[in-house]
Amino acid sequence: ERRTVVVVGAGPAGLTVGTILRDASVDCVVLETESRQFIETRPRAGVIEEWAVRELARRGLGKNLMERAQVHDTCEFRFGGERYRFPYGDLTGHHHYVYPQPLLVTDLVREYADVRGGDIRFGVRDVRLHDLDSDRPAVSYRCPETGERRLLRCDFVAGCDGARGVTRDAIPPERTRIARQDDGIGWLALLAEAPPSSDCVLFGVHPNGFAGHMARSPEVTRYYLQCPPGDDPENWPHDRVWAELRTRLGAAGAPPLAEGRLIEKRVLDMHHYVVEPLVHGRLLLAGDAGHLTAPIAAKGMNLALHDAFLLGDALAGYVTRGDGSGLDAYSEASLRRVWDYQEFSQWLSDIYHGVASGDPFRAGTTLARLRRLFTSPAAAAAFAEQYLGSAAVF
Ligand code: FAD
Repeated sequence: ERRTVVVVGAGPAGLTVGTILRDASVDCVVLETESRQFIETRPRAGVIEEWAVRELARRGLGKNLMERAQVHDTCEFRFGGERYRFPYGDLTGHHHYVYPQPLLVTDLVREYADVRGGDIRFGVRDVRLHDLDSDRPAVSYRCPETGERRLLRCDFVAGCDGARGVTRDAIPPERTRIARQDDGIGWLALLAEAPPSSDCVLFGVHPNGFAGHMARSPEVTRYYLQCPPGDDPENWPHDRVWAELRTRLGAAGAPPLAEGRLIEKRVLDMHHYVVEPLVHGRLLLAGDAGHLTAPIAAKGMNLALHDAFLLGDALAGYVTRGDGSGLDAYSEASLRRVWDYQEFSQWLSDIYHGVASGDPFRAGTTLARLRRLFTSPAAAAAFAEQYLGSAAVF
């Protein structure tokens, strides 16, 4: 079988690339190890930056999102027993959208497969890449129904298979560099069947550790609790979770937290990596396959979308007009935003975790940084700009 582009992975990155290619009438196929039902219900991100939504809308992919997403323009820090609201929307005129990732993935699968008739194969097994250095690479996989191995010859492979995929590992180690950072911190990521307890995102900076609160929908709220890296979620029974959230998010005048059943509870280690460059021969990495940023600043899905816009346009430009400039510029253009967001995530990680570090000097400088956001207009403007994400590229 012969295709122009094989997209490996049906997350936000792969599905967006696929849809852009379909719109440009480029022949492609998307391969996904999981089932459609699984990817349409896998809970993860929720915060989407304004420029990304605008770009989705421009490509006919933002209708449901624009109708249903909540608009967020304020966050609140809680530290030293007080509440500090940060109205970044008033400062900048910009905001975030909150739209759960499974809903976005559902919209994208529908647009790619049902509306635009794109070929997507779910449940594929044992995906392998071949001949990446040639101009006729190939991807093979085992068919879920028959177990037989199928080979797809193509011109390009888009590696969009996330942090645990196989495409990144197909690059010989001597041909790439992977920069890694491990904060040595865990977060217990929780989804509670409970309405949000605030009209905005909450960041609790407490000597016991960081706690976060983010609305997902009127019925479901995401919470985070800092914990030792690699901690067992079983160490966090219902009562301990809620007691710790109440302590770390407690502040004078704050309404009580609305409690509910915990429907997701897993430990994420706060680590980050960047693959440089993102291109090896005819393989182009996009999204978490090429760079991971822990959910500290809610940037990962936004970076995945940014890559997909760049890569989809670049592939379409090459295939339909013979214009290779987008492909040549792809890795550098993507990584400029990736490093910018990594730097901000690291800065924010220091703020979230400094007070609980056990180092009184670091705790002191962390609190000074935090107070500066509420006393210096220049510091506030810089924070707001990075928190919202740069609109510079689009
Ligand atoms: P993925 O979404 O991981 O998609 C990759 C796809 O490839 C998956 O469907 C996978 O099943 C498939 N796959 C894997 N291996 C193979 C293979 N060998 N062959 C074929 N297919 C394969 N980001 C934000 O911007 N904002 C947030 O608020 C936010 N919160 C988060 C909260 C949590 C708890 C987590 C875990 C992440 C969060 N993120 C957030 C990050 C965000 O979810 C990811 O950055 C985003 O999903 C990346 O998209 P992707 O398409 O690159 O990869």
